Amino acid sequence: MDGTRVSKEILAGVATRAAAVESATGARPCLAAVLVGDDPASATYVRMKENRCAANGIESRLIALPDTTSTDQLVDAIGGLSADPTVHGILLQHPVPSQIDERAAFEAIAPAKDVDGVTMHSFAAMAFDDEGFASCTPGGILRLLDAYGIALRGAHAVVIGRSPILGKPVGMLLLARDATVTYCHSKTRDLPEIVRTADVVVAAVGVAELVRGHWLKRGCVVMDAGYNAGNVGDVAFHEAVEVAGHITPVPGGVGPMTIAVLLDQTVTAAEAQTH
Ligand code: NAP
Repeated sequence: MDGTRVSKEILAGVATRAAAVESATGARPCLAAVLVGDDPASATYVRMKENRCAANGIESRLIALPDTTSTDQLVDAIGGLSADPTVHGILLQHPVPSQIDERAAFEAIAPAKDVDGVTMHSFAAMAFDDEGFASCTPGGILRLLDAYGIALRGAHAVVIGRSPILGKPVGMLLLARDATVTYCHSKTRDLPEIVRTADVVVAAVGVAELVRGHWLKRGCVVMDAGYNAGNVGDVAFHEAVEVAGHITPVPGGVGPMTIAVLLDQTVTAAEAQTH
């Protein structure tokens, strides 16, 4: 499943809609990225998102704070962006340094600007099938499944991982589409046996090549959200590709979809705030 191709299609629509917002209001949709500290991987992610914004008619604003920033200082900075009418979306790059209460910082993001889908409000909206922004990676996984016409109603989806930004919400979104969802995690017994019953497998673990080809039911759909050192996913791709009906590569599968959904949701936020 070619996430790069599908993300380009989404971004083409984003650019058109961003241009429409600009011509109607005189201002581009604006995504503010907050980066705390100097973690090189986080800085790279933020730069990638800035480049993608620039290429698609979205203004990006970087708020870089030192790694000595306190929770109060970060909450104040994010609160300022939440109140700033020229900012339509806010992204707090995580992880943040350990002295910071990450949850308090996320909750300082106004729900209308939570285009990364990290607040409790957005999580609840996903759980209640209500209006709101999805977590970007789960949202991207669903968009990719839809792009390939994968039928979810009644399908058994096995989600490996239960983190609040990835595993849990992707299970909720699959449930909302009438899949039968099983969550697995580090305490799950007989993981390979459970995965073997899956029509759709979502790997969201962070362990390189944990899921082996012989764990999979022939013809199943494999969404590999993992991204580990050396550009390796959570699924042993060379084995799984022999068994799966559809599979996402790493890189070029779920990753590009995440950024596309972030930008798509930024334009949606700008449209809503400028109407
Ligand atoms: P996380 O917060 O560390 O959560 C990992 C989950 O995997 C936990 O629920 C953990 O179980 C479970 N787990 C760990 N070892 C396991 C094992 N041996 N068997 C079964 N389950 C196991 O990680 P995350 O933030 O969700 O990220 C997961 C992966 O996705 C990482 O590779 C990350 O880089 C990638 N990711 C990619 C994108 C993207 O844009 N493509 C975005 C976000 C994350 P417990 O709950 O029991 O500890």
